[in-house]
Amino acid sequence: MNNVVIAESQAASVEIRDLTVAFGSLNVIEKLNLRIDSGEFIVLLGPSGCGKSTLLNTIAGLQDAFRGDVIMNGCNVTGLEPKDRGIAMVFQSYALYPTMTVEKNLSFGLRVARMPKKEITRRVSRAAEILELTPLLKRKPSALSGGQRQRVAIGRALVREVDIFLFDEPLSNLDAQLRAELRVEIKRLHQRLGNTMIYVTHDQVEALTLADRIAVMKGGAIQQLAHPEVIYNQPANMFVAKFIGSPS
Ligand code: ADP
Ligand code: MG
Repeated sequence: MNNVVIAESQAASVEIRDLTVAFGSLNVIEKLNLRIDSGEFIVLLGPSGCGKSTLLNTIAGLQDAFRGDVIMNGCNVTGLEPKDRGIAMVFQSYALYPTMTVEKNLSFGLRVARMPKKEITRRVSRAAEILELTPLLKRKPSALSGGQRQRVAIGRALVREVDIFLFDEPLSNLDAQLRAELRVEIKRLHQRLGNTMIYVTHDQVEALTLADRIAVMKGGAIQQLAHPEVIYNQPANMFVAKFIGSPS
C-alpha cells in the first residue's frame, strides 16, 4: 500500500514530453516539455497566436502531435481519442442547445453515452448544486444571462466527473464585471474539487489570480514556468516582464 501512496504523490497528472506540433511545414509547438502535478491549477498564458490552443487541443486529443508524447496519470495517451483521455473541456463559445432546458443541456453527453438514468440524475444534481444552477434547471438558455450560460457550459464538463479539466479562454466573451465574478467562481470550483485544471488565457489578471503556476508562452515555447508571484517579481526575460506588466 505504501508504494501506491508514494507513487501517487509523485505522479504528474499530465506530462508533455518533447512535443512538436506542426501545421504543414510550420512547427507551432516545438520540443515542449511540461509536467503538471495532480490537483494543480496551471495557466497557459501568452499573446494571441503563440500556440496555447494548439497545446491544449493536443493534450485533449483534438490535435495530433508530430512528435512527442502526452502522459496522463502515468499512461501514455498520445494515440487515444479525446473521449478516452479522462478529460473534459470548456471552450470560449458555450454552444448550448437552444431548444433544451439547462437540465437537458447538462445531461446530454451522459445520455448519448447511455449512462444509467439514476447516475445521470445524481451527476446533474451535483453539478447544478456546485454551480448554483439548481433553480435554473427547467429554463432554456435564452432565459439565462451570459454568466449563467457560461456556468452551464462549465457544468457540462463537470458532469463528466473526470480528473482533468481543460479551459480555453472560457471568459473571453464576457464583460469585465462577469469575468471578475466567474474568475472567483472557477477558483472556488477548483478549491472544492481539488482536481487538475489547465486553463488557457491571454489575460494577465486571470492568470495571476487563478494559477498555482503560470506557463508564459511565446512562439510555441514556454518562456517561464513558475508561481504567479515569481513570474511577476522575477520575470525570466524581457518578454515575460513586458507581457505580465512587471514593475521595472
Ligand atoms: P493561441 O491559442 O495562442 O492564440 P493557436 O494555438 O490557436 O494560438 O495558434 C498558434 C499558431 O498556429 C498560429 O500561428 C495559428 O495561425 C496557427 N494555427 C492554428 N491552427 C491552425 C490550423 N488548423 N492550420 C494552420 N495553422 C494553424
Ligand atoms: Mg487560442
